[in-house]
Amino acid sequence: MPETVYCPNPDMNAFENALKQFDAAAKVLNLTQNQVAMIKDPRRIVEVKLPVRMDDGSIEVYKGYRVQHNIARGPAKGGIRFHPDVNVDEVKALAFWMTYKCAVVNVPFGGGKGGVICDPMKLSNGELERVARRYFAEMVDLFGPDKDIPAPDVGTNAQVMAWFLDTYSMHEGEYLPGVVTGKPLELGGSAGRVEATAQGIVHCIVEAAKHLNIDIKKTTVAIQGFGNVGSYSGKILQAEGCKIIAVSDISGAYQCDLGVDVKFMMDYVAKNRSLAGIEKHTKCTKMNDPQKLLELEVDILVPAALENQITSKNAPDIKARIVAEGANGPVTPNGDKILNERGIFVIPDILCNSGGVTVSYLEWVQNRMGYYWENEQIQGDLSRMMRAAFRNVVETSERYKVNMRIAAFIVGIQRVARASELRGLYA
Ligand code: GLU
Repeated sequence: MPETVYCPNPDMNAFENALKQFDAAAKVLNLTQNQVAMIKDPRRIVEVKLPVRMDDGSIEVYKGYRVQHNIARGPAKGGIRFHPDVNVDEVKALAFWMTYKCAVVNVPFGGGKGGVICDPMKLSNGELERVARRYFAEMVDLFGPDKDIPAPDVGTNAQVMAWFLDTYSMHEGEYLPGVVTGKPLELGGSAGRVEATAQGIVHCIVEAAKHLNIDIKKTTVAIQGFGNVGSYSGKILQAEGCKIIAVSDISGAYQCDLGVDVKFMMDYVAKNRSLAGIEKHTKCTKMNDPQKLLELEVDILVPAALENQITSKNAPDIKARIVAEGANGPVTPNGDKILNERGIFVIPDILCNSGGVTVSYLEWVQNRMGYYWENEQIQGDLSRMMRAAFRNVVETSERYKVNMRIAAFIVGIQRVARASELRGLYA
């Protein structure tokens, strides 16, 4: 895999796109050159080679990354992605978004992100465990409950976090659950963490609907991506009374105007690993072009897959009134411009999907106390923190007369810049 992926279309380079978002907000804030220099670029980029013994006895060498973007407000925080398309620019972008995500929702963390170029769908359980453990072992000095705290992302889950925890604790000679979040409940995970990102998205959608005078119970929804974020968003939105009329995953997009049964689909994926073949078991039809899911006639669109899905090409054809960014970076700057011009209300990723890291924070706090809260407490805190962040971003967008994305960056940048200034320079 090349170091920096050659992008014939610069609109598709996630890090370049992230920097454009930063620049738009920095301009409104009139940041000084010193301020920009302190908070724009990643502080640390680590690349490692991971030799792993495969089940057939051969050795495969994978490439892994960890980027610590900023640590002014606290330890670096952010997930680890296992995906064949991982590249350093993507990890840099994801780490950058984590810095501002943590700042927008006001949890005391900086931003980081990691990734391994691999296809977890093609690895056996044993191979996956060896990739995970080798990754953590190679990076062991970087991580720590007060240094850098990973979590799940695309292609990783609670079991992978358990292997990370074990690798780290064995290395340090003590049990240190606060080194990762998104762990299984049995190992110091938090109630509500699995569905936290989705729950946070739904809090934002409910607030957005109120703000726009839309009756949430009368809305239709399309969801791109049926992993942790997409599937739980569907389930919780359905419980809110929305009608989910289309979902998609790697196998294709499936439409059902009468409304899909999200619970049935989640059970199906748990058994079959993907939605492939779901049309034979439900009233859904498989769409010819899965990308057309984004252009369906719906009230709410939740892109919950990967980056760069809504671009200048398809933005003119998006019909939703609300785009809730479940994924990180699903809309390119050119796509964003068009959505804004068309009056579509975009809830930006660094606000919309910040419920995951919010409950990660609550998990980390519980690990440090050694005392565990009931789900009720977690849900109350998550709801309060998400709604406060949403209101703050709306007010900022009204005060500065900017869209929600620029407003979210204004809130985040102000907090990171202030922390950075207060700390000053070490030497
Ligand atoms: N990977 C998630 C995200 O992109 C969660 C990060 C975390 O909990 O640290 O926000």
